Amino acid sequence: MEHLGLNEIRKRFLNFYESKDHYVGKSASLIPKNDKSILIINSGMAPLKPYFAGTETPPKKRMCTCQKCIRTGDIDNVGHTARHGTFFEMLGNFSFGDYFKKESIGWGVEFLTEHLGFPMDKLWATVYLDDEEAIKIWEDNGMDPSHIVRLGKEDNFWEIGLGPCGPDSEIFYDRGEEFGCGKPDCKPGCDCDRFMEIWNHVFTQFSKEEDGSYSNLAHPNIDTGMGLERMACVMQDTLSIFDVDTIRYILDGVCEMSGVEYTDGDKDSDISIRIITDHIRAMTFMIADGIMPSNEGRGYVLRRILRRAARHGRLLGIKGTFLKELSNRVIEVSGEAYPELIEKKDYIQKIIQVEEDNFNQTIDKGEEIIQEYIRSLVQSGEKELDGERAFKLYDTYGFPLELTEEILEAKGFTADEEGFKVNMQAQKDRARASRKSNDEEGWDAAELDLNVPKTEFVGYDVLKAEGNVLAIIKDQKLSESLFEGEKGVLIFDKTPFYAEGGGQVTDKGVIFKGDVLAEIIKVEKKDGIFYHTVSLKNGSIATGDTMGLAVYNKYRNATARNHTATHLLQKALREIVGTHVEQAGSMVNENGLRFDFTHFEPISEEQLKEIEARVNEKILEFLPVVTTEMPISEAQKLGAMALFGEKYGESVRVVNAGGWSIELCGGTHVNNTGEIGCFKLMSETGVASGVRRIEAVTGTGVLAIANANEALITRVADAFKSNKKAIVDRIRTHIEEFKSMKKELEEIKKQAMGSEVDDLIKNSREINGIRVITSSFTDYNINDLRTLSDDVKKNYKNTAMVFAAVSEDKVTFLTSLTDDLVEKGYHAGNMIKQIAKIAGGGGGGKADMAQAGGKDPSKVKEALEFVDNLL
Ligand SMILES: [Zn+2]
Ligand SMILES: [Zn+2]
Repeated sequence: MEHLGLNEIRKRFLNFYESKDHYVGKSASLIPKNDKSILIINSGMAPLKPYFAGTETPPKKRMCTCQKCIRTGDIDNVGHTARHGTFFEMLGNFSFGDYFKKESIGWGVEFLTEHLGFPMDKLWATVYLDDEEAIKIWEDNGMDPSHIVRLGKEDNFWEIGLGPCGPDSEIFYDRGEEFGCGKPDCKPGCDCDRFMEIWNHVFTQFSKEEDGSYSNLAHPNIDTGMGLERMACVMQDTLSIFDVDTIRYILDGVCEMSGVEYTDGDKDSDISIRIITDHIRAMTFMIADGIMPSNEGRGYVLRRILRRAARHGRLLGIKGTFLKELSNRVIEVSGEAYPELIEKKDYIQKIIQVEEDNFNQTIDKGEEIIQEYIRSLVQSGEKELDGERAFKLYDTYGFPLELTEEILEAKGFTADEEGFKVNMQAQKDRARASRKSNDEEGWDAAELDLNVPKTEFVGYDVLKAEGNVLAIIKDQKLSESLFEGEKGVLIFDKTPFYAEGGGQVTDKGVIFKGDVLAEIIKVEKKDGIFYHTVSLKNGSIATGDTMGLAVYNKYRNATARNHTATHLLQKALREIVGTHVEQAGSMVNENGLRFDFTHFEPISEEQLKEIEARVNEKILEFLPVVTTEMPISEAQKLGAMALFGEKYGESVRVVNAGGWSIELCGGTHVNNTGEIGCFKLMSETGVASGVRRIEAVTGTGVLAIANANEALITRVADAFKSNKKAIVDRIRTHIEEFKSMKKELEEIKKQAMGSEVDDLIKNSREINGIRVITSSFTDYNINDLRTLSDDVKKNYKNTAMVFAAVSEDKVTFLTSLTDDLVEKGYHAGNMIKQIAKIAGGGGGGKADMAQAGGKDPSKVKEALEFVDNLL
């Protein structure tokens, strides 16, 4: 048997099945499409379900893939064993009603023996006990009959509830007696390490009916699965997935970064190294597929493994963040097979960095707290940490419950999971309650005994309709009527008013009949019922009344322009910035639009211009905007972008702008992109880590901005006594003039100082053979005095100067000595102390120059004369 690298095994498998006329499919994203039964893709077959179910047509009836998978069921065992991992790859060949058992087993044997070099006598197979057909095929392919093991339904029959099912056959590799338990009945299925399962072939040939019987499928299917890492273990003759070439390369990286040696054993450090090695693979692939760390669903799985890995890095003594750096190794070894890792490298690493940074900021404090908790448990003799404290660690320090449990478990403690959930729920309730108390119209439909049918929404087609008042809610209670000046909630049998949703605001408008007039404040939709909050301006309304409902089309149209533009913006972002851009929220009203999306850095000025240009280009192409109701599977075929976090029923509304932008959306739109008129970006900012926000305006909004800008320019021109055309030249001239005036002023000051020096020398006196200059000034500040003394020093020696800058209530002294005096031992700093003292101040400084303040300007003369005594 050859010793093959993991990447080589994958290549050979896909090449082999391609030579057998299979379509080589790309691995699907880890995020399941239209499949709520699983959170993350966990097998090669999972993304192909629609092909098996017949709801979608496969590209070819024969297909093979290498699928990236994540399973978190055994996450607690990861690191503690040699075999558990969350991330793995699965090779598989599939037949959608094409070939069946004969080819599947035949090619399986051909691949294993001729392309991977397995000796036939080392292969074993388990089959479903009744499956004579499979047994015969195995024998025809040269398998020793004693190597074929018949097992029961629990081992070799694949079925989930009703529908397609069938027997399967698992291929085992015999590692040799030395790995066995030695029991005489040791065979595939035994607990020991001798027989390793390498490949499962599922023969879907029956359909289980409601009465428990099985009928034959007209077109049976084949679905096989081979764990790539496990196959690599066999081919590289190791029992540990962590010794597989590509994985070991990552593990060695962990050792290098931590300086800790891997001993392939059960030491705590070995466990930490294995956990990090597995988790870095999982997180790198998850982020590449667009999963973001969060507190829910897939995002929570990602956050959990990332934080767990970060903490184990600390346990190994790694300082600071390291996961970003380590992800390089994953990208290096898997980038060729999964080019998205290379394409999104920067993005992947930014997300890892931000999340690890965030966690690092609280991890030390959290660890401290948890150790404190453990000490208190030891003291009180308890075995379980209560839910309140477990929740505090989650809420304040970002410790996922599972991480807290892991840390506790290492010391023999547990956490109260139920109590944790109770605290979590209590926090959610508090948040909801505070939202409610902030909302003066707060009421809960579920608490009212409402017995009304779902509201018919006619607003996609018309802006005016007649509706019957089915119910009135006033002061949070059901009421028969609403009177002038009151606020209340009306429910009709039908309405043209769009209810707030999908980021689009409520329509504005009125409800009327004769003299009766109510204004719409907002419209909400819950469980298909539209709740119109109104303010009654005139007359009264009673249940049973028939009213006119009219939407203000000016607002509706402006909102529609902004909503359609939001779709165009999203498409442009995905084209220009990248397909990792996902909607994270949006808001459209008549004034403009706001679009939040996933991206990790500011968008460059250049790209913003390109985005704006792209949207305007599509507006001017006058693309028809068509909305259609269709089954969700059809929408997916069109490539419709599903909105973030929204739930859809069976039938969805697809908004298609010229085939360029296709989105699932319940909002109201223009009929043609040309109606938008024009699109202008206003700002691009960050709102949360990994989320950016774009604000923009369209149509008349752009005009309003243009008008406002024009008005601003006019005001500037007026202020400069110029006109718009000449304003730029005018401002330039002003700046030039200002510069030259400033220069001139400095020149004048300089000249003034020059003559000042002459005057000072003229008025100097001689004490002890030293020239002494004292003078007080009211129009110079201390900086001017320094310049003045420097000017004197340039041309004169043997000179001592004491200047005073005098203002109303204080004085600043400057003492300055030429260098030759300093050499003789005179000290300006010492002199000024005594001088300033006379004027009620103090200070000091260096030997050649010193400054000091004084509080009493009337003593300046006396202070300056004191210099003579000093010298
Ligand atoms: Zn055994
Ligand atoms: Zn929309």
